[in-house]
This record gives sequence, C-alpha cells and structure tokens, in this order.
Amino acid sequence: MSEKTDLQRPPSPSYGAARMEKIVSLCKRRGFIFQSSEIYGGLNGCWDYGPLGVELKRNVKDYWWRTMVRERDDIVGMDGAILMSRAVWKASGHEETFTDPMIDCRTCKARLRADQVPEKNGVKQCPNCGGKDLTEPRAFNLMFKTFVGATEDEESVTYLRPETAQSIFVQFKNVLDTARKKLPFGIAQIGKAFRNEINPRNYIFRSREFEQMELEYFCRAEEGMKWLEYWKEERLKFYENIGIARDKLHVLTVPDADRAFYSKGTYDIEYDFPFGRQELEGVAYRTDYDLKQHQEASGKPLDYFDEETKQRFVPHVVEPSAGVDRTVLALLCEAYDEETVTDEKGKSETRIVMRFHPRIAPVKVGVFPLLKNNEQLVAKAREIVALLRPHMNVFYDETGAIGRRYRRQDEAGTPFGVTVDFETLGEKDPAFLDTVTLRERDSMKQERVRIGDLKELLLSRVR
Ligand code: ATP
Repeated sequence: MSEKTDLQRPPSPSYGAARMEKIVSLCKRRGFIFQSSEIYGGLNGCWDYGPLGVELKRNVKDYWWRTMVRERDDIVGMDGAILMSRAVWKASGHEETFTDPMIDCRTCKARLRADQVPEKNGVKQCPNCGGKDLTEPRAFNLMFKTFVGATEDEESVTYLRPETAQSIFVQFKNVLDTARKKLPFGIAQIGKAFRNEINPRNYIFRSREFEQMELEYFCRAEEGMKWLEYWKEERLKFYENIGIARDKLHVLTVPDADRAFYSKGTYDIEYDFPFGRQELEGVAYRTDYDLKQHQEASGKPLDYFDEETKQRFVPHVVEPSAGVDRTVLALLCEAYDEETVTDEKGKSETRIVMRFHPRIAPVKVGVFPLLKNNEQLVAKAREIVALLRPHMNVFYDETGAIGRRYRRQDEAGTPFGVTVDFETLGEKDPAFLDTVTLRERDSMKQERVRIGDLKELLLSRVR
C-alpha cells in the first residue's frame, strides 16, 4: 500500500527549497555528486560525480550520442581539444563580448550578476545583505584565461573553451572533406566547457566547469527556419525519452531583443526545476555567422560546393546546445519520490525512491542471494551476475535483510531486483528450478522469471 507524502502535494512556498535540500542530501549520501575539493573546503561552482552519478551522466551522454549520431545517416561526431588558438576566440567574438554585467555590493562586497539582482520598489537590492549601495554594472568576461607554453606573456594567452561549438566550426572543412556529407548534415560533439560564472548557484545547474552536448546542423539558407522547428521538436522528444514529463518541459521563444544579433530564431527548452523554470537547452538558428567569421579571420575557405547547382556558398547552421549537468539535475529532480509504505504487519515507513527511466538509471539490476552464507544461493547469484554483466550495469549485494537491500537499490534508482531463493534451487517445487524473483522498483511487484529468459526480458526494458 502506498500514499502521497508532503512532497507530492501541491507546492507550498517552501516546497521547492525543501525538495532541493532532500535531493542534494540524497546525492551526497548515495554517491551521485560531491563538492569538488571538499576536504579543502570546496571549490565554488565545481562538482565531482561519484560512482552512481558518473553512471547516470554517462547514460545521458550515451543516449544522446546514440540517437543524435549513431542512429542517423546525416550526422557525424568529433571530439575537439579544450584548448584552441586565441585567434578562434577573437574571431568568434568571445574575447570581445562573452561577458556578463557584474556589479559589486559596497556593503558586503558580494559580486553579483546585474540581471539577477532583485528589485524592491524599483530599487536594486543586494540579495545577500539587503544593501542598496551597489556599483554600476561593468562587463566581466566569463572565459578562463591561461597560458600555453613556458612564458606567461600576451603572446601565449588562450582560454579554456566556454562552449564546444567553435571546434566544430573551425574543423568544418576537414570533416566535410573526410566524411563526404551532403547538405543538410550535422557535426556533433560532447565535451567540457568552462565559464567563470559570477554567481554559480542552484547546485549543478550553474557551474564553472560543465559538459555540453552540441550539434551544429548545416543547411541551405532557405531551409534554416524549417530545421530550427525540426530540432526543437526532436530535442523535446529526447527529454521525454529519458523520462522527463512533457508537462514540465516548456519552449520559450527568445524575443528579438534577447537574441544574438546574428540569430534568426532561438528557442530555449526549459524545465520546471524545484527552484523555478529554467533553461535546459538552447536551439538557435545562427545563420552563416560563425563560419563566415572564421573564414574571414583565417583567410581559409569554409564553404560548400553544391554538385547539382554548381554553386559555392557558406552553409547556414542550426544549433541545439544542451547541458549534460543540467539534464542530470532535471533527471534527479524528476526521479526523486517519497512514499509511505505499509507492510503486512501494518508497520509504515517512508520509502525514498529514485524513479529513473530504466534507460538512464545508473544501475539496471540488483542481484541478491537470499542468504549470504548459503554457498548454492551465492553461486547461483554470481552466475546470474556473470550472465547479465556483459549487457548492462549489474550490482551484486548479499549483505543485510532482503527488504533493506531493496530499499538501498530504490534510493539508487535501480529499476529491477533479482532474488535467488530456495525455490531457485528447486528445493520446494522442481517446477521452480532455475527461476528467480524479479522485483520492479516502482510498483514493487514481484514475478517469477526463468533465469534463461532474464537477459532478453531486462534488455528489452533498459535499452
Ligand atoms: P544561461 O543563460 O543559463 O547562462 P546560456 O544561454 O548562456 O545559459 P548557452 O550558451 O546557450 O547557455 O549554453 C548552452 C547550454 O549549456 C545551456 O542551455 C546549458 O544547458 C549549458 N550551460 C551553459 N552555462 C552553464 C553553466 N554555467 N553550468 C551548467 N550548464 C551550463
């Protein structure tokens, strides 16, 4: 039996904060996410993924790569270096304009992003101390500066990339020549990006080091708007396919005034996080701006020759740019659930369960021998682990009462549990020889399954 707990009732003012607190605490307790450099007091805006977190994150990236690259004829992948020539960042405009407006609070010395400072009665107030003595906004470049080589002079300056897209643009010609694609076609990349955010916040939502999954989809100018619509829809489907409820996803049409001057249309795909509706991904029609900038600055042609029309032109591009960490956070927020469960003896307890879609769950199946000191049970369970391990992430656990082991996997979000008991050994009824109990995380329902059928059954549900 289960019933709704406070966290599932309609939102109260403190609902979001309370929910976030529980999610953050579970993530630390169960090894999803830790603060970077924690034993030294932490490094603001940087996070480390623990054993469960790294699997979750990897599954998100793998599913993106599978659906965006491997299952399509029109997209190829690449993996560019994080460090690039400074000339790239001059040409792209990042050195000049990749800035956020920053203001200082003269009272508490806090550094604030001007567009995030709340106003009270039309007057901006420091969210830290409530002070009204604030400096005028000034541009703060978000790129991390570094030096290449042994001398720290102007000549050797470059930056950690603030987005992955630029290596796609500067390698456009090499990829085009080697992959021999015809328009429309895309180049996809997953990788780290760095931004020295003024105010990293909302857990892993806004960090200083993060990962992006970006596609640059090149097309003819007259088809730009069509592909913009197409990619917005495809990307919404992606989030639904990894278990994010459609009614929590929203499409914001970015108004003209907020759009980059070269963009002819931009959508933000937003998600209802516990701390509010925020951007998960931007889908932008960037015209031919990027390729033209690099063509002009490098003096190297970045154009496309159309065999049919015999025309040469610089393609336009539509860019769906998603954050891996923001997607992981959305998945954590979406999955977290609490329910009160009552056993046959009438004893109630709160069950915490991460309801991840099996496709992205860090561990797919837990395998448990009923007793750890029974050699036959343990050997059978080990056999099942060996059978499943080449195909999916399996967790073997033999310690503690079986109910406790189930609860531990509920918190990790493991969708299936397989228990080897005395019936498996054929001790009670020979008809049950080599069958196991398969428990489903969400419903907690248990069914009897033949070991020989396990692999196919589970594979059909976790892919
Ligand atoms: P925001 O307005 O939230 O700063 P943005 O519009 O600058 O984001 P883009 O430059 O469009 O973001 O980057 C594409 C995607 O990269 C974002 O939708 C987001 O998922 C991710 N991303 C950008 N900045 C960060 C960050 N500081 N931390 C985590 N993810 C980020």
